[in-house]
Amino acid sequence: MSRQLERRIAKLATTKTAGRIGYKRWNQLVNRATVADSVDELSSDEVSIIKQAEQELLAKSVNIYLDIDGVLLDSKKNKPAIGLNFFLKTLNKLMLEGNEVYWLTTHCNGDASTAVKYLAPYIDKRLSKIIIENINPTSWTVKTQGIDFTKPFLWFDDKPLGWADAKTMKDHDAEASLVTVDLNKKPLALVGLAFRLKRMTKRPKL
Ligand SMILES: [Mg+2]
Repeated sequence: MSRQLERRIAKLATTKTAGRIGYKRWNQLVNRATVADSVDELSSDEVSIIKQAEQELLAKSVNIYLDIDGVLLDSKKNKPAIGLNFFLKTLNKLMLEGNEVYWLTTHCNGDASTAVKYLAPYIDKRLSKIIIENINPTSWTVKTQGIDFTKPFLWFDDKPLGWADAKTMKDHDAEASLVTVDLNKKPLALVGLAFRLKRMTKRPKL
């Protein structure tokens, strides 16, 4: 069994392509993939279904960049922002659907474990810990260096944009991708953002 192939296919379960071929056929494909050692052992039909679903996902997926202080944590009060667990669970759903989430915080520079370690004491649920461990690292000197501008993205930050970052966002015409969070003015900001992200995860009925 190939863990890699299994993971690759798990991401595709909610695509229209999977819906179109029907539950029974999709399940057959998943079962065959579970026992296969690699994609080469699948039929050309099955491979083309997988590729089609991946294309679909690629067109829809969005990268999410996350600051920690002032966004996930209320730094002034030294405690988690209201709705943090709900927000993380929503992110998890997005990740399962093929979107990528990245740390864009001073607590991570090339190594995600530093961010996980920093955040872990504020998170009481085991599930949430697993979720934060699935978030990818970035490397940067100014934050926009950590962003992949070739893909659609959302960037959550409380104090974004030094001069260099502002210019880069403008040059890429990406200013609408920045979501400025102000927990002082809006303590429930994370709950609202989770609902906004939840809407992104809703698929039209097949
Ligand atoms: Mg911050």
